[in-house]
Amino acid sequence: QTTKPKMHIAILPNLGMGHIIPLFELAKRLVVCDHDIHVSFLLINTDEDNSAARDQYLYSTALPPSLDVVDIPPINVSNIVRDDMLILTRICVMVEESLKSLKSVLIELGKPEALVIDLFCTGAFEICSELSIPVYSFYSPSTAFLTFSLYIPTLDREVEGEFVDLPEPISIPGCSPIRLDDLLDEVRDRKNDQYKWFYLHMSRLPLAAGILVNTWEDFEPVPLKALREHSFFLQLPTPPVYPVGPLIKQDEPMGSSDEECLAWLDNQPADSVLFIALGSGGTLTTGQLLEMAWGLEMSQQKFIWVLRKPDDANASSTFFNVGIDVNDPKSYLPEGFLEKTRGVGLVVNSWVTQVAILRHPSTGGFLSHCGWNSTLESITHGVPIIAWPLYAEQKMNATMLTEEIGVAVKPVKGPGETVVKREEISRVVKLLMESEEGEIIRGRVKKLRDSARRAVDIGGSSYYSLSCLVEKWMNESSKP
Ligand code: UDP
Repeated sequence: QTTKPKMHIAILPNLGMGHIIPLFELAKRLVVCDHDIHVSFLLINTDEDNSAARDQYLYSTALPPSLDVVDIPPINVSNIVRDDMLILTRICVMVEESLKSLKSVLIELGKPEALVIDLFCTGAFEICSELSIPVYSFYSPSTAFLTFSLYIPTLDREVEGEFVDLPEPISIPGCSPIRLDDLLDEVRDRKNDQYKWFYLHMSRLPLAAGILVNTWEDFEPVPLKALREHSFFLQLPTPPVYPVGPLIKQDEPMGSSDEECLAWLDNQPADSVLFIALGSGGTLTTGQLLEMAWGLEMSQQKFIWVLRKPDDANASSTFFNVGIDVNDPKSYLPEGFLEKTRGVGLVVNSWVTQVAILRHPSTGGFLSHCGWNSTLESITHGVPIIAWPLYAEQKMNATMLTEEIGVAVKPVKGPGETVVKREEISRVVKLLMESEEGEIIRGRVKKLRDSARRAVDIGGSSYYSLSCLVEKWMNESSKP
């Protein structure tokens, strides 16, 4: 008796950890027995690949059966990337170069039944249409940001000058207005190449056969409703949207920094430790690092700080080489800080397994750059947030978490100041960790945690949404 071959889906992330992680978690979910699919996870490689964190994440445990990591032939970075390119331009030119091999990779894999792509991999639409492979987009940031992205072609058509010079916040049908201050750098200068890339990829989103979003119905009901009811604000109808989240990092093995942190956390009271980490790319300026250090010390609260070498020019300077910081960042701390905080705080170098720290019962707060994965990981583990947005759409996320959902507090800069001062840092840390207001915020995030868990459990809204998508794939693949 011959068994029917499993359905084969390919998944294509871009280079950043914040994009690889949720797509890999999606891959893992698809190969578990109730979905029973074979997944090829296509990995973009460069001749400069130096992501220790990526390799640890992907390769340090055996992959589940039916999940293969397939390397796309490496690209030569120095041929295509110039030093003056901003981060999104860099990502996009690298992805474009890598996609030159996509057609042959897909043919070699025997033409998968569908391809799920990252938001900056839309070059795949044309390639897959030649091969008759349907393409689904996985939109890794928030759904609120998806509505903005889908609205970009309309804004681009209707606004004459720069979006940041508009007289009022940007108002998208059915959605909360977007403050101009919160706009991401990529859309603040329409003459810059970053904007052109952003525009290109976002304007192609409606070509997808469906858009998967890393969220759940009860978490972002407003933008989800807007997408379903207001597709008239787009030039093309919005494809069906599948909220399948929260898809977050699960069971990664521990490195030595993790063991050190967890052992230390084991000896601390419940909810007493503030965790400080700024995503895969985030760095502080020299002046801000100084204020952060003394602000933490002043707050007298316990902390674990994932510390990186400061960078005065770039807030996302470790994006392409996470986890291999060759400098000892402790040497950038102000003199006397480590001695003064001994026993109260733990400083670790560059990278720890964030979910392992967030999951620990002693962790009671997270000072985060509000990347979408970090946001979901914090909420899924019931940890309230101090919002410290740095780049990309993080300011929008911070506003949503602080003002709409009420699970975060945000420090403010004084008038004319370029850094958040130590007194302000100490104030928000104390507010979150030891005040009544902090307790209320903690209560809210714990409720959301329960709703997140329900969504992905069997029978939950995100579980159901992913099952519908799989069923659609199954029906399409069985058509003659
Ligand atoms: N992360 C981690 N350890 C660190 C810093 C980051 O494990 O020290 C993980 C984090 O858990 C998250 C991802 O890296 O899954 C960062 O994604 P996010 O969307 O938050 O931010 P990005 O790096 O894309 O800006």
